[in-house]
Amino acid sequence: MSILTVTMNPSVDIAYQLSTFKLDDVNRVSNVNKSAGGKGLNVTRVLKEIDEDLTATGLVGGDLGNYIKSQLDQGAIHHDFYQIKGNTRNCIAILHEGLQTEILESGPTISDVEGEAFKNHFESLLKDAEVVSISGSTPSGLATDYYVELIMIANAKEVPVVLDTSGESLRQVLLSGHKPKVIKPNVDELSQLLGRELDKDLNLLKEALQDSLFNGVEWVIVSLGSEGAFAKHNDLYYKVDIPTIDIVNPVGSGDSTVAGIVSGITRNYDDVALLKHANVLGMLNAQEEITGHVNLNHYEALFNKIQVRGV
Ligand code: ADP
Repeated sequence: MSILTVTMNPSVDIAYQLSTFKLDDVNRVSNVNKSAGGKGLNVTRVLKEIDEDLTATGLVGGDLGNYIKSQLDQGAIHHDFYQIKGNTRNCIAILHEGLQTEILESGPTISDVEGEAFKNHFESLLKDAEVVSISGSTPSGLATDYYVELIMIANAKEVPVVLDTSGESLRQVLLSGHKPKVIKPNVDELSQLLGRELDKDLNLLKEALQDSLFNGVEWVIVSLGSEGAFAKHNDLYYKVDIPTIDIVNPVGSGDSTVAGIVSGITRNYDDVALLKHANVLGMLNAQEEITGHVNLNHYEALFNKIQVRGV
């Protein structure tokens, strides 16, 4: 049995390093980095780095879809994507003068036939899965309740789902009768969901998580960046306190946290161990330049500095 990660709208991410970025002029770039991107693929890479058994799935198409598969092959990561007619997208980040300018393609439009076919593909992959993680937004063409349907299929097979999405996709799931086991909003996503500004005030967070929108969701883990996390597990509430660390690049820390949650479930960790595992991985990602990468040499030292307290 293994973990199934789902990335419905992956990308080939390109990072251009420029000393200066000239608008309306030619910018020549020698420092180029290309990688397989998308939140689900970050989760996938971290799971591989912590030695979990997994299969990556989702939708890919065209040359860039092939590039993603070849990158996963290079990392010895098992994958089984569904091939679409459209072309997998590029996302470009231009790093200049300490700034980051991003150009994000919306990606291919998925046909109804492809959307239906993927559901069958997903269902067939569930037979070997003990946990599913679904990350990121749904591509255009698919209904905003597409994740509701994937969760319904997984729940029917009693395979728990860890869902990390935002906006309408998340709202549709929470309003539906098909609940994931875990969601991991950050504080901005939680504020957007509830339509009110939340900060890191613990009383407000605790009250927010009592909203009926979360009924039936076993775990709500709100990540709080440098402040750790706030979590609800059924009727228990926890604050995760983390030490101050020097960070290099926090992009992908939430995905790394999701990898920790998924892995903690497969390892049957208790609440405290699961929350520590998830936060250490988020922190380790923030200490690296590469998104969706952790250096496990520092795992134990950080793990021992994290406190989980009931609130
Ligand atoms: P997201 O990427 O989804 O916005 P967060 O920024 O909350 O998620 O990060 C997820 C986790 O990674 C946090 O709960 C924390 O454990 C760790 N983390 C992120 N940023 C920092 C930081 N600046 N310092 C220490 N830990 C961090």
